[in-house]
Amino acid sequence: MKRPILIHPDPRLKKVCAPVADISDDLRKLADDMLETMYDAPGIGLAAPQVGVLERLIVLDCVKEEGEPPKPTVMFNPEIVSASEETNTYEEGCLSIPEQFAEVTRPKEVEVSWIDRDGKLQKQGFDGLWATCVQHEIDHLNGKLFIDYLGAMKRQMITRKMQKLKREKARM
Ligand SMILES: [Zn+2]
Repeated sequence: MKRPILIHPDPRLKKVCAPVADISDDLRKLADDMLETMYDAPGIGLAAPQVGVLERLIVLDCVKEEGEPPKPTVMFNPEIVSASEETNTYEEGCLSIPEQFAEVTRPKEVEVSWIDRDGKLQKQGFDGLWATCVQHEIDHLNGKLFIDYLGAMKRQMITRKMQKLKREKARM
């Protein structure tokens, strides 16, 4: 089931989310709903607070090559274990900040630990787009958006555009 995606500014997008205690069927269903919502958008990552659930859960799939099989990835309680000194700059966007993009510099490689949908602890290194995406999504769990990396002027400009977009949507 697809879920509505919250649009910035929304107080729920600024909250620090609570760790997941154990992986229940309800949480697995939420993860499936989030994957469906993400693929439909379409996007390459989605965090639970973006659908109004303040728990530490993210989903991602950064496979871009045509013909390559999809790689739906579900992470409960994801944590960055280590990050490279070398950085990478990507033009980022966010499903909660539609049609706005800006360059953000982050560590090029990160090692992440998480609990998978079967409740097993996983640990894996990521680089390239996967590394940027997983950092962007974990930021969401700490109430941080990619526009928080930008200067105040640019951030305010984007926020005003989003407020206008929300007003227009509310009138429809
Ligand atoms: Zn985002």
